[in-house]
Amino acid sequence: MISENIKSIRSHVPEQVSLVAVSKYKPISALEEAYDAGQRMFGESKVQEMVGKYEQLPKDIAWHFIGHLQSNKVKYMIPFVSLIHGVDSWKILLQINKEAKKINRVVDCLLQFHIAQEETKFGLSEEEVQAFLNAEAFKELQNVRICGVMGMASNTEDEQQVCHEFANLKDIFLRLQQSYFSNQLAFKEISMGMSGDYKLAIEQGSTMVRVGSAIFGVREN
Ligand SMILES: *Cc1c(COP(=O)(O)O)cnc(C)c1O
Repeated sequence: MISENIKSIRSHVPEQVSLVAVSKYKPISALEEAYDAGQRMFGESKVQEMVGKYEQLPKDIAWHFIGHLQSNKVKYMIPFVSLIHGVDSWKILLQINKEAKKINRVVDCLLQFHIAQEETKFGLSEEEVQAFLNAEAFKELQNVRICGVMGMASNTEDEQQVCHEFANLKDIFLRLQQSYFSNQLAFKEISMGMSGDYKLAIEQGSTMVRVGSAIFGVREN
């Protein structure tokens, strides 16, 4: 079942777009099934859960943290995390830098933008991001590398609205790229699109889709 879902989703996702299998709350056996189907990128939203799965599963998996991050949890994933999608405050970025520095790593991060209409979704505004990218203190962060942006569209049937929000995130990405990262090839990711809207996200320029329930089935929580 899981392997067929992956195959089917893969057929809609161009090769150059990364498929992050969002395995939050799912048992190890489900991840193993996806792994056996060739999946190597997994997304988790709780640090402890991700650490536990990392310890039990093969080491060629790329672990993506997609959840809301608390400062006191950062250190546990710094040794192995491949990409942190949800950087939504200056404080969290400082904390990631501090912990990464301790073990002499550079950790890849995406800046999370608030693009949806709902107030409940986390994320930064473009003004907030400009303020911290302009700050002298930002240039001193040697142990984080900003690789792009991430966002979640509104949870609505209105496809036009969703497309508009994704297009907005792409525009934000292009403006940041031009103003701050023009000579940095690593700034290339637009993480957008989930089970219900990944096709629309790809049409709007997503480079990375985060798909959970369409692969693993609906979650109880
Ligand atoms: C849970 C989650 C997903 C996956 O959601 P599905 O609708 O199950 O595909 C993607 N991104 C984030 C940030 C999530 O929290």
